[in-house]
Amino acid sequence: MTVKRQGTDELLGLNKFVVDEENAHIVIEKDICAKCQNKACLVVCPASVYKLNEDGEIIFDYAGCLECGTCRIMCQDKGIRQWKYPDGTLGVSFRCG
Ligand code: SF4
Repeated sequence: MTVKRQGTDELLGLNKFVVDEENAHIVIEKDICAKCQNKACLVVCPASVYKLNEDGEIIFDYAGCLECGTCRIMCQDKGIRQWKYPDGTLGVSFRCG
């Protein structure tokens, strides 16, 4: 019997997202993020939704968020102005395959 192992990207691709286009459940404060030396969000987010643009600024798309809360805990400079779960049935649905 052969067991096929799945990579992280493959497993993340199984998840289903219903994005609230009107209300972001995470809101960041770009002025604070620009001054942050640590930028832990770039490293700790398992979905890699935080990235740096060519000017070295944080860019962020909450649409692929896994709602783990790690960025909220690790952000030391209060760059995350709001973190809450998406309303109702919106957000991520995990599918383990
Ligand atoms: S809650 Fe988790 S998955 Fe969502 S943006 Fe923060 S670290 Fe990434």
